Amino acid sequence: MSITPGGAEPQSTPALTQVSQTQPAQPQLIQRYDHAVMNTFGPPKRVFVRGEGVHLWDADGNRYLDLLAGLAVNSLGHAHPQVIGAISAQLSTLGHVSNFFATPTQIALAERLGTFVTAHDPAREARVFFTNSGTEANEAGFKITRRTGRTRLIAMDGSFHGRSLGALALTSNPAYRQPFEPLPGEVTFVPYGDAATLAEVLDDTVAAVIVEPIQGENGVVEPPSGYLAAVRDLTETVGALLWIDEVQTGIGRCGDWLASAESGVTGDIVTFAKGLGNGFPVGACVATGAAAFLLGPGSHGTTFGGNPVAAAAGLAVLGIIERDGLLARVRVAGERLAAGITALGHPRIAHVRGRGLLRGVVLTDPIAPAVADAALAAGFVINAPRPDVLRLAPPLIIPDAELDRFVAALPALLDDV
Ligand SMILES: *Cc1c(COP(=O)(O)O)cnc(C)c1O
Repeated sequence: MSITPGGAEPQSTPALTQVSQTQPAQPQLIQRYDHAVMNTFGPPKRVFVRGEGVHLWDADGNRYLDLLAGLAVNSLGHAHPQVIGAISAQLSTLGHVSNFFATPTQIALAERLGTFVTAHDPAREARVFFTNSGTEANEAGFKITRRTGRTRLIAMDGSFHGRSLGALALTSNPAYRQPFEPLPGEVTFVPYGDAATLAEVLDDTVAAVIVEPIQGENGVVEPPSGYLAAVRDLTETVGALLWIDEVQTGIGRCGDWLASAESGVTGDIVTFAKGLGNGFPVGACVATGAAAFLLGPGSHGTTFGGNPVAAAAGLAVLGIIERDGLLARVRVAGERLAAGITALGHPRIAHVRGRGLLRGVVLTDPIAPAVADAALAAGFVINAPRPDVLRLAPPLIIPDAELDRFVAALPALLDDV
């Protein structure tokens, strides 16, 4: 098949067209990147200069269908006019005041997130600590657990909770952990989805159990149904907190405000970030019940967290998801995508897993990184969280026609590598 990038942009600016006609801009930019940016991510595969809706354009004017959404972040796509409007309006009204003071947008976003988290138990109180990222939301959660009077924590094999030392202590991947040991301690890892093993290690010395409703970074791994409810029961029995990391799965990604909602449980701690600000950095640690009151004045802080502009971005995202009925749309679109890929019956596809618009395409061979590269060359942005898994996390607004266009292109991408 052709590896011509998916449609050179017909309406690109004259400057870009000119660059691509004479000399590609990307190699030079990537060389400058190499000499200026710390090499923690490996070489960048493209330099992007513009986004609109579900499309991205690179510095040479090539257009791509974004099926990754900046790692489950750009839920409303790129340059969403109402998000831009809300951010601009807030920025031109009041951009930042510090946490010595409050702003109405911050209060409103905290109220909404608290309502989401306590949807199954509305009498339960919720309190929010705002952050700038998922990692920081989990750091706040970690500090809450230390205020229980217990220090042991249980996390899951295959987990990902972030890269700061605290969040890393809860992340299972040895390649991420080992170079930075010793990490904050007393974390026991148990198999994900296995309530029986959890029951064996859980006792009244455990402060909290942290669990993702679906393990996104581990390759979109789902636990058996009933698992979260079982974890809720087990933690309740020993007085440990249930801490649900919804950083990747929450805010509509899986077709609900919380991916854990369908299990009917209420977490003591729930963390959010990625999809909340549509690219504007904002995270939140929401604690409920007694856990909501474990951090008091002076026990934690942040300069930027809860900034009114970030809060305005979050409120805009929630408002648009609601107004446009996107939770229901995500469920339908996700089923269409999964059914379409399954129906290909391609010999290199084992199965499709995940929920809503967070999907893992499990391959029969460890060729996912090569397929992701071939996809990029063909104008589709996807990624390979594991050697045998492709991850699809497109903007929640993606039209059927664009999903179908990727499904139609997939067999050739798989055949090519
Ligand atoms: C991405 C992610 C994090 C870390 O979020 P950052 O914003 O990158 O700090 C934490 N938990 C989960 C489940 C994630 O997917």
